[in-house]
Amino acid sequence: MYFIRTICHQKSGGTCFDIGQPNKNFKSMTIQKGTIDIKTENIFPIIKKFLYSDHEIFLRELVSNATDATQKLKTLASMGKLKDELGDLTIQIEVDKKNKTLTVRDRGIGMTGEEVEKYINQIAFSSAEEFVKKFKTKSEAEQNAIIGHFGLGFYSSFMVSEKVEIKTKTYKKGGKTKAVRWECDGSPEYSLEEIEKQDRGTEVILHIDKENKEFLEEYKIKELLNKYCKFLPVPIQFGTEKVQEPIEGEKDKDGNPKTKEIEKPFIVNNTDPLWKVKPSDAKDDDYKNFYRELYPYTFDEPLFHIHLNVDYPFNLTGILYFPKVKKDYELQRNKIQLYSNQVFVTDSVEGIVPDFLTLLHGVIDSPDIPLNVSRSYLQSDQSVKKISGYITRKVADKLAELFKKDRESFEKKWDDIKIFIEYGMISEEKFYEKAVKFALLKNTDGKFFTLDEYKSHIEKTQKDKDNKLVYLYANDLDQQHAYIETAKERGYDVLLMDGALDNHFVNTLEQKFADTSFARVDSNTIDKLIKKEEDIPSKLDEKEQEKLKEAFERNINKEKFNIVFENLSETDMPVIIMQNEFMRRMKDMEAIGGGGGMMGLGGLPETYEMVLNTNNPLLGKVLTEKSKKKQDALIKQMYDLARISKNLLKGKELTEFVKRSITIIE
Ligand code: ADP
Repeated sequence: MYFIRTICHQKSGGTCFDIGQPNKNFKSMTIQKGTIDIKTENIFPIIKKFLYSDHEIFLRELVSNATDATQKLKTLASMGKLKDELGDLTIQIEVDKKNKTLTVRDRGIGMTGEEVEKYINQIAFSSAEEFVKKFKTKSEAEQNAIIGHFGLGFYSSFMVSEKVEIKTKTYKKGGKTKAVRWECDGSPEYSLEEIEKQDRGTEVILHIDKENKEFLEEYKIKELLNKYCKFLPVPIQFGTEKVQEPIEGEKDKDGNPKTKEIEKPFIVNNTDPLWKVKPSDAKDDDYKNFYRELYPYTFDEPLFHIHLNVDYPFNLTGILYFPKVKKDYELQRNKIQLYSNQVFVTDSVEGIVPDFLTLLHGVIDSPDIPLNVSRSYLQSDQSVKKISGYITRKVADKLAELFKKDRESFEKKWDDIKIFIEYGMISEEKFYEKAVKFALLKNTDGKFFTLDEYKSHIEKTQKDKDNKLVYLYANDLDQQHAYIETAKERGYDVLLMDGALDNHFVNTLEQKFADTSFARVDSNTIDKLIKKEEDIPSKLDEKEQEKLKEAFERNINKEKFNIVFENLSETDMPVIIMQNEFMRRMKDMEAIGGGGGMMGLGGLPETYEMVLNTNNPLLGKVLTEKSKKKQDALIKQMYDLARISKNLLKGKELTEFVKRSITIIE
């Protein structure tokens, strides 16, 4: 709890008063001067110095205050406590470049002189000072995180002004009380006097200082209003706009009404954003239009939306959209906008929604999210945890509903939404539990299965001799074509796992499923990947294998390719290049930075196994070949063909292969 210390400074011609108490002699006042007390030092230079990076929030604070004052007035009117008419409640923003002022004018409840003393001199001041105190104890990173989230309130206007005036008239007594004018030049001294003012409400006039001239530019103010005030609940007017209006009774030669250009006050905000509407009252088109309103520069339509609406045990409304995910999905993050009672707060929602949902677009509005705290605090906050859990559940429920209602259209959208679902299943246990029912696997023929369906699909054929179920997958239909075909010839099914997160997703599924392993089709010979009982005998004895090995090693890169013999069927290729599943996953991880420099010597070496099929007749031919030259040519040809099917033959070696092949044909 923070208390203002009360020191009184007598100013010449001014009345002395204690700002700890509303001034009892206020009615007789003509002009009054006082000192706003500051406990340790003048906060104005601090406000200016520390908050320079986020000067612009002053406008949000002033317009929010004007909105609050207007909403309070509406509430009083609805309770029958307002003596005069509500009238037009539009909040007006005005720039006067000549006089270097920016004005925010409302027709809300206004303030009496006593209230100005209490709310502006004391309360607003104490919260500003408290903010600065908190701010100074934080690290720079944390400072950046709280700037703009903390309602510095009215005093943030001193970040951009050399002088601030308030002219205000209260709604009390049906507008028959005197209006007052408060003025402060950024020092702790202020003055307060009675003035004539026609309208009820408050006018805050900022005399913009030299360093902040940009806030006298129309485009800048428009930009800020658009950013912070786009969905405030009271109309906000700034400048005018030109519109075409039909002229009554006049038609052009085609019979269409004639129009003329007129200038109208320009209202910057939509006071009834769609997320505030009851979900049952909104149509599909409304959601599409609202998406365009939120992201005017995005051309893709969203895939579908989720309307969030809860008032117990916390208050939260919002709409989340599933966008079409592009390859550069990192760039599409941070599109969710966070609002507190329709006031824009931030578009970086880490810590509030689970990480995988930051890929979604849309709006979340909740007065229950504490905004004046650092991110690390936010993540541990109980109500934030509940909110995060609620959003995760709603997203999972919506996906489950879409899947159940129309599986075909869900499958069509799968490639676009799978990244969210996989990301969620990898990172959030709660989401995984729900998603197992609708997450899909697609095989290399383009057929979709749920996890359960797929298990039943391969259970009879793909169990190895130890009763372990082997899921085969490919991540490149073209490059792994030969391997996929071989697997299919054996009657096996191959999944297509070519998504950005599939490597991780495979690991997650492997951990979740009992007695199951995943293997990429090209990571070993098919009979090794799914090892069945019967062993095929070898046509070559040990001596012959030794001779063959020597002959091959003469012709290949021994450091890269390690020769092994396998007894495959006669129809399998004579030479097959493999990269072991474990080795490949390590390489993949290294590529995305996971195991960077794991070996300490510039990463893992690129090594492969070169399987020689003891039962392919061609290898027998190599052995019986008398001419060493011919033998070498045969080996080189087989070696190159094996490398081609693994996409490993390039450049000079590829050219040599082509030349050699032509000589063979000739
Ligand atoms: P906060 O809005 O967070 O309470 P501020 O520093 O912005 O803090 O404002 C302090 C108080 O001054 C408000 O709570 C309100 O009572 C009063 N006030 C500020 N602006 C207006 C206004 N435009 N009309 C009426 N009262 C206002």
